[in-house]
Amino acid sequence: MSRNLELFERGKQVIPGGVNSPVRAFGQVGGTPRFVARAEGAYFWDADGKQYLDYVGSWGPAIVGHAHPEVVKAVQDAAVGGLSFGAPTEGEVVIAEEICKLLPSVEQVRLVSSGTEATMTAIRLARGFTGRDLIVKFEGCYHGHSDSLLVKAGSGLLTFGNPSSGGVPADFTKHTLVLQYNDAEQLARTFAEIGDQIACVILEPIAGNMNLIQPSREFVQALRSLTEKHGAVLIYDEVMTGFRVAKGCAQGLHGITPDLTTLGKVVGGGMPLAAFGGRADIMGKIAPLGTVYQAGTLSGNPLSVAAGLATLKLIQQPGFYETLGGRTARLAQGLADEAKKAGVTLSTDSVGGMFGFYFSDRAPKSYAEATGCDIERFKRFFHAMLDEGIYFAPSAYEAGFVSIAHSDDMIEQTVAAAGRAFARVAG
Ligand code: PLP
Repeated sequence: MSRNLELFERGKQVIPGGVNSPVRAFGQVGGTPRFVARAEGAYFWDADGKQYLDYVGSWGPAIVGHAHPEVVKAVQDAAVGGLSFGAPTEGEVVIAEEICKLLPSVEQVRLVSSGTEATMTAIRLARGFTGRDLIVKFEGCYHGHSDSLLVKAGSGLLTFGNPSSGGVPADFTKHTLVLQYNDAEQLARTFAEIGDQIACVILEPIAGNMNLIQPSREFVQALRSLTEKHGAVLIYDEVMTGFRVAKGCAQGLHGITPDLTTLGKVVGGGMPLAAFGGRADIMGKIAPLGTVYQAGTLSGNPLSVAAGLATLKLIQQPGFYETLGGRTARLAQGLADEAKKAGVTLSTDSVGGMFGFYFSDRAPKSYAEATGCDIERFKRFFHAMLDEGIYFAPSAYEAGFVSIAHSDDMIEQTVAAAGRAFARVAG
């Protein structure tokens, strides 16, 4: 028996589903999850000693590659000085200054330990600031697993969301309104009707949890102008896109100044660190200054801050995003070319170090279009690539991630492997 399978079987005895986060279980694609023994640069090695070129990168954080020596050294040095204090440290001030410098929309920032905490608190803060209850999210956008954000997709205009998870009372989601991504008209109609009740609109400014979906210019401009006009807080959830799509994040690419921003993944360099921040008048409502409560025993953990600071330094090296974006775009184009050669219907897209490929004739613009892609063919392609030693996300609904450690040669190897894999899944 393979060691991966043995660990999976043992894990299932003592961990629900054998994993500590559901998508790791390979539920959509089937087969045995790869248990990671170690990782370095663009590669990881599984429990059977097989090497994989990794396009998941811990679901986004590993933008400088795994175990980057400068990040590891920063964490080692921090660890020697103590693991957690529950009292402020200089590093927290430095990383907050750094985030405020990189994101002009962020005047003040608070550190937390996960993206879920960041979005959950940003929403509480928006409600506390506006004195309103209603929140707007978009179908297919994932913002972590807090109760009010786990709302079933698929509702039309003014249909209030049902919980999409067991254990969430309908009462908890009755203030969550689910609209369609990229539908500026629906958004305008909603604001015209009930804009004065809306505390905030939260979105993935480039969606990465329904595969990669980019918003139209019209949509992001409508979001900014309508929220501003009606006194609602615009929350850019940049947990995934933050320092992933550009140094100035998605908001920089869009030329939009949100009221609040949430960050995670890259900002913690692979350690548990996330953040929410934005306008000083809104942030002033958070405890201890204001009445909106938020706290965390491990918030601003010194090891996480050290990893985050080392990573933020590396991404600011000249040419970082040009190189990363160029390689990612080449991968996306290469996949499209190889699919065409094999007679497989595929479209692709990329932005910065994030990419999507869709078994459909054009890149989706909404959740409905994303779920309309050929999932069966995706599964076969996923396994064919796994056989080639290429690790893509084990779900058709996740974006892919390239790191700066993925060299031009590695990208070309991936494209060549994809050519063989498409030939296998054609027909
Ligand atoms: N927001 C977005 C856009 C995400 O992609 C995620 C996680 O993938 C989260 C929030 C939740 O972050 P975490 O998994 O760190 O709780």
